Amino acid sequence: MSRIMVIGSLNMDIVSRVENYPLPGETIKGIKTDVNPGGKGANQAVAIARAGGNVSMVGAIGTDVFGDQLLEALQQENIETNNIIRKEGTSGLAVITVDSKGSNSIILLEGANGLLSMDDLTDILPEAIKDPANIFLLQNEVPWETTKNIIESLSASNASIYLNPAPAQHIPTEIISKLTGIFLNEIEATIITGLSVIDQESASAAAEKLIAYGVTEVIITLGEKGSLYRDFREHVYFTPGRKVNAMDTTAAGDTFIGAYLASKQQGYSIEASLEYATAAAALTVSREGAQKSIPYQEEILQFLT
Ligand code: ATP
Repeated sequence: MSRIMVIGSLNMDIVSRVENYPLPGETIKGIKTDVNPGGKGANQAVAIARAGGNVSMVGAIGTDVFGDQLLEALQQENIETNNIIRKEGTSGLAVITVDSKGSNSIILLEGANGLLSMDDLTDILPEAIKDPANIFLLQNEVPWETTKNIIESLSASNASIYLNPAPAQHIPTEIISKLTGIFLNEIEATIITGLSVIDQESASAAAEKLIAYGVTEVIITLGEKGSLYRDFREHVYFTPGRKVNAMDTTAAGDTFIGAYLASKQQGYSIEASLEYATAAAALTVSREGAQKSIPYQEEILQFLT
């Protein structure tokens, strides 16, 4: 069976709840701290695996105890981890503080993610492109130089390459032209196209602009409003968001992307895959947490019936 190869970040999220943020120099008592695996790359790999896809993860972890835990978390999901590289030092860390009003402050330490280089992939990519059915999925949480080199190298062999440019940053049009697909939220679509993307109509215009750059399919997610799909054959699908009691939208985008690609990998149509991804993301939104809120295939299918 073909593989979806996610090349991206693995982070440990350390989330502390406090009444009020400490002032500079102040020590306060926290309410509770949770330590959870995260990172956009790992979250998307988990979303693919739980949605029924066949996935392998490529990335970098540190030699610290968090590295062991990040690896174990993926292995428990049946994600292939042979190509996760150990780098001397710390793993990626997100130190998150949430106060009683629900607002958060985040310190992101890229750790091993910041050390992933093209040299680490010289054996991995040629092996992976041998099967033309394999799909590659990237985000923006490893060095841009590495991501750019991977896209350039894969495109020379006609591989299917999907990019979720999050966190948002400008992407050169010559790189966009090499992609099979691009997943964007409203902010990313706005920054990359220069058009204000706020609804179905503006998302369609932004997608048209990206298609003109040469990408085959564009999916713009619009939070609770839903998502807009547009491809080079002028197929356009708008899929409204499912009505749920929203608890925590963290990882909604990662779940959507993972479930969409897992569904396509299993041979379902674009429209069916969009419905499946929308249901999966709605389930994530209705639960607290990041990776732990991502649903399994059975739950998604049940929600759809
Ligand atoms: P995040 O950064 O929180 O992971 P994102 O900004 O990348 O998310 P969104 O556009 O917010 O992605 O959401 C992705 C998809 O999740 C949407 O297209 C929609 O299907 C679903 N979704 C998001 N928010 C809601 C909501 N409040 N209710 C139902 N579905 C939602």
